[in-house]
Amino acid sequence: MNCIFCRIANKEIKSGVVHETGKVIAFDDVAPQAPVHVVVIPKGHIEDPSGLNDVLPEIFDCIVKVSEIKGLKDRGYRVVMNKGRDAGQAVSHLHFHVLGGRKLSWPPG
Ligand code: AMP
Repeated sequence: MNCIFCRIANKEIKSGVVHETGKVIAFDDVAPQAPVHVVVIPKGHIEDPSGLNDVLPEIFDCIVKVSEIKGLKDRGYRVVMNKGRDAGQAVSHLHFHVLGGRKLSWPPG
């Protein structure tokens, strides 16, 4: 499958890995929208959010770990999952953005 995030998970494409567990990998976003911008993905190719159920605890443990590694634990951070066209999703392999390191405005655009 020609999925860029599958290829990152398989290490066919190099990325700045921040943290990795059996089913999940976190890496620096190539076009960061904040001083810290990390993408957290299930290693398996999942497109439908219902498919995340089994891996969600590991994903959220990974998000917490990323927040610690990146020094965001005390100051805070935002987690975003874009799903579908209206949300501007560009990569169909579901993923979570972890954004921080600056004051983030609300609501998002
Ligand atoms: P989304 O719009 O929610 O689908 O977000 C996709 C994200 O993946 C964007 O923030 C991109 O900058 C990021 N991205 C795309 N290709 C790569 C890559 N090779 N390495 C790291 N991040 C990437």
